[in-house]
Amino acid sequence: MELKQIQQIPLTSTSTSISSPVKHKKSITNIDYSFSENPNPAPSLLLYLTNAVFFAAVYFLLVSWRDKIRHSKPLHVISSSEMAALLAFAASFVYLLGFFGIIGSNPPQEQEQQEEEEKLKKKKENDDDHVVTPPPPPPAAIKSDPIIISSDDEEIVKGVAEGRIPSYSLESKLGDCKRAAAIRRKALERITGKSLDGLPLESFDYESILGQCCEMPVGYVQIPVGIAGPLLLDGEEYSVPMATTEGCLVASTNRGCKAIYASGGATSVVLRDGMTRAPVVRFSTAKRAAQLKLFLEDPLSFDTIATAFNKSSRFARLQTIKCAIAGKNLYMRFTCSTGDAMGMNMVSKGVQNVLDFLQTDFPDMDIIGISGNFCSDKKPAAVNWIEGRGKSVVCEAIIKEEVVNKVLKTDVASLVELNMLKNLTGSAMAGALGGFNAHAANIVSALYIATGQDPAQNIESSHCITMMEAVNEGKDLHISVTMPSIEVGTVGGGTQLASQAACLNLLGVKGASNKVPGANSRRLATVVAGAVLAGELSLMSAIAAGQLVKSHMKYNRSSNKP
Ligand code: ADP
Repeated sequence: MELKQIQQIPLTSTSTSISSPVKHKKSITNIDYSFSENPNPAPSLLLYLTNAVFFAAVYFLLVSWRDKIRHSKPLHVISSSEMAALLAFAASFVYLLGFFGIIGSNPPQEQEQQEEEEKLKKKKENDDDHVVTPPPPPPAAIKSDPIIISSDDEEIVKGVAEGRIPSYSLESKLGDCKRAAAIRRKALERITGKSLDGLPLESFDYESILGQCCEMPVGYVQIPVGIAGPLLLDGEEYSVPMATTEGCLVASTNRGCKAIYASGGATSVVLRDGMTRAPVVRFSTAKRAAQLKLFLEDPLSFDTIATAFNKSSRFARLQTIKCAIAGKNLYMRFTCSTGDAMGMNMVSKGVQNVLDFLQTDFPDMDIIGISGNFCSDKKPAAVNWIEGRGKSVVCEAIIKEEVVNKVLKTDVASLVELNMLKNLTGSAMAGALGGFNAHAANIVSALYIATGQDPAQNIESSHCITMMEAVNEGKDLHISVTMPSIEVGTVGGGTQLASQAACLNLLGVKGASNKVPGANSRRLATVVAGAVLAGELSLMSAIAAGQLVKSHMKYNRSSNKP
């Protein structure tokens, strides 16, 4: 019953509100014409009277002159009544010439019409000011192509809107992902009564996301990609793609890249490379949980466990197992290399293999969950900050004094002091967990979205401590970023989608490395750290120089905005 009611809210209800300004305009136009077609009676009466005076004067003068001719009286001798008739004739003649537009100003009718039009224009302006008229549709809504649904599809739309056909089954039922998305979208608009105009549907490969990236699609969101760089890192130049809607961010990172370039580039080191997964299991006693812990951490057990783990993939190689106990519950943090994949699927499959294997010797082990949050994925956690997750990278550069002055518009001492009081002391005061930086998350998120990474992993991937120190007798600036848990991949997930793959290609790290497995994803992690270094350098300089608000006013407050 409720569904039916909702369904009865047609899309036309949205289109009515969109088209209503047109209706409003039309009604005004109607009034306009009706006024011009029904002239005001006042000017008509005046016209009739003038005509009467004109013809009466002519008639009187003709009769008077005929009598004069008959009685041989001179025509030029004019009586007072003839004089009055002549004056009346002349006056009415001039009026009629003016009326027909032969001489002088606009005829009264046109004048009246113009006056009426002026009045109506003013009325409309007032109406626009005071009457609540629906706003015009946004430009995107006007431009977006209408989604054409065939009569066959219309039946399916009805079925989805009425709940007879499950929305999630459209792809498998139709075998056409684009058609499924169009039908789902139409049904959604009908159910909600809300228009999706502005959310594009066309020009997207819906087959490429099936069973991989996104379920039940109805379109896609557009995010602009800007380029910062060249970032000179480990002797290579990178153009860094950043998908963001935050004004200033790309410009600022670009300035940081410029400062690094002018100072001879940055250097990076990958300290660790391993993805983690930590299942939670429960025993009937803490002693049994401890027995398993001892077994897992015994170096003699490692090979046996690794053999079970590594069966999950030719790229998954078990590195370490670290356990934590909470009473009868055991958390086992498995770390493994994952080649060029970010590795969550890979490590999870390996862990499942080990759990299956352990069940033989520990049949009393109760598996509570494949993930017990000691991993720790997409949540702020000290374990990632201390132990690392994904790639742990340190990146450094020495920025020359003149570059600090000319490009960054500040000085080394101010930067060092600001870093100490903001990124170190300030963050300590705030009780930060891995947040000893100015805005690592900004750069990480923009790069992650552009290159098809999991943006939710920005939480631990943005853990970063930024250090600054005056070097070379206090003249130059040593800056470093240490990031223990950068979780990136160049295969799997969103990395294979066309636009994301294009951004990876720009960085020269698209797909699997054909030299050493994992080389591409590790290089991507160093680019993330290098771009963060550039971002830290530029934002910290802007704050030190007091430019932050000014540059945001310039880049974030575009005059295009309404
Ligand atoms: P994730 O584990 O990050 O979720 P996926 O499981 O989606 O990644 O993708 C990894 C897949 O890619 C695996 O099936 C793996 O065998 C394959 N693959 C191909 N080449 C590589 C490589 N160089 N490194 C890692 N995985 C690779």
